[in-house]
Amino acid sequence: MIRFDVSTLVEARPGSTLTLSVDTGPQCLTDLEVGFLRGTVGVTRVEDGLLVQGTVESQLRVACVRCLESFDLPVTLELEETFRLPGSGPNADLPDSVTSNGWLDLAPLLRELSWLEVPLKPICSAECGGLCPRCGANLNTDRCACESAEVDPRWAALKDLVL
Ligand SMILES: [Zn+2]
Ligand SMILES: [Zn+2]
Repeated sequence: MIRFDVSTLVEARPGSTLTLSVDTGPQCLTDLEVGFLRGTVGVTRVEDGLLVQGTVESQLRVACVRCLESFDLPVTLELEETFRLPGSGPNADLPDSVTSNGWLDLAPLLRELSWLEVPLKPICSAECGGLCPRCGANLNTDRCACESAEVDPRWAALKDLVL
């Protein structure tokens, strides 16, 4: 959880500010593993809520589509979002709202921004050799006997499909 007590700001006049320091180790943002989250986030009391602005550095754990191994993807997340205040309007229970006891949970927003940074087809490195289409060996780390064997045209077609 990346939660902060912002109850003083909820009570404050518009224009009041608070600076939050995000500094966590490895954790899971629902369905996304991150190595860390580090940054500074400013919160400003605005007329209709709390404006959250800042930059958070992170490292996302994603799986390579070629070799299927997980790797760390460094990202910079730019936050800019207005969180609604507790009990304001019918949408008060949506993720981007402050809880009724004045807690601000940044995890859903950080998760959303993180997913936007994940490429459609993540690749661990441009040189990734992927998996052998015949025996499934990871060609980045293993050598298999298939390499010298003649490639069956049906496998070649499958290889094109997979990559
Ligand atoms: Zn790979
Ligand atoms: Zn092989």
